[in-house]
Amino acid sequence: MPIQVLPPQLANQIAAGEVVERPASVVKELVENSLDAGATRIDVEIDRGGAKLIRIRDNGSGIGKDELAMALARHATSKITSLDDLEAIVSLGFRGEALASISSVSRLTLTSRTETQTEAWQAYAEGREMAVTLKPAAHPVGTTLEVLDLFYNTPARRKFMRTEKTEFNHIDEIIRRIALARFDVAFSLTHNGKLMRQYRAVSGSGQQERRLGSICGLPFLNHALAIAWQHGDLSLRGWVADPAGSRTLTDLQYCYVNGRMMRDRLINHAIRQAYQDKLGDDHQPAYVLYLEIDPHQVDVNVHPAKHEVRFHQSRLVHDFIYQGVVSVLQESAQPVLPGEGS
Ligand code: ADP
Ligand code: MG
Repeated sequence: MPIQVLPPQLANQIAAGEVVERPASVVKELVENSLDAGATRIDVEIDRGGAKLIRIRDNGSGIGKDELAMALARHATSKITSLDDLEAIVSLGFRGEALASISSVSRLTLTSRTETQTEAWQAYAEGREMAVTLKPAAHPVGTTLEVLDLFYNTPARRKFMRTEKTEFNHIDEIIRRIALARFDVAFSLTHNGKLMRQYRAVSGSGQQERRLGSICGLPFLNHALAIAWQHGDLSLRGWVADPAGSRTLTDLQYCYVNGRMMRDRLINHAIRQAYQDKLGDDHQPAYVLYLEIDPHQVDVNVHPAKHEVRFHQSRLVHDFIYQGVVSVLQESAQPVLPGEGS
């Protein structure tokens, strides 16, 4: 075979292999786009575990008619323009691949309206060349992404989809994780026409704990120790469950770096070490923690789905987190002195 450039659809399908593992990964990419667009309300509708339909509607800035086709193109992004930007990422997206990838493995329509437009427009891409068609539509300011028949044209991927319930549970988990990252944004999640979750936007910290309780459960809330730890431009906020609470809770590790959800081994290790002898070997600490760090000090361009980061000064970050958690655990373990408390 002679060497040839792959047609856009095939190139996008190959890229989709890295970011679009299952319906929940589509939901993650699309909700992150809505957040990057400044949305304060995001509604997610799912049919049949996402295999049939994923619809995400937001009230963000919208995409202008002239940019709709670009939004669906690969390597097209409004979020970075230079290598300098890449070294200090502040948005959730930056690769310019999600919409192109998702639309190459589903029937995707993008409907949007900006504040300056009186009319909304709808775009979809099809065929080997992913030619984009535009037509007028009705839509308030903001964007709706509709993804139908995910993996209809990639049978190998389709085969890996699990039951409707399992796929929906993954989506639910993604929404919980994101809702914990953005208390100021309202989210709803509907499955097969039934409203499954509703998180109202909150501001005060009392209200924050309400969302925390509804996502993580009362046992976590009742054992939660609040952390507010700062050193230079590093900050660690959030909650850890005391050892007694952590012993009863499984799979409750939520960690965010500059607002991005992560599964980070370094952070997990630092927290684990802070609990050391306070937890048995077969228990994991339960926590919801937010690390803020100078974006120049962290590389998020490590993995296409961006679940991992690399810290330039990993030892420093590790020790900082360790100290923060140790100090809050120590405070909570202090015996109440006579005359104090009740
Ligand atoms: P990335 O998020 O990495 O830039 P995407 O393929 O996810 O790449 O999106 C491409 C572009 O489409 C974004 O840079 C953004 O300009 C635009 N976009 C996507 N989703 C939305 C949305 N919900 N609201 C406004 N703009 C959007
Ligand atoms: Mg994106």
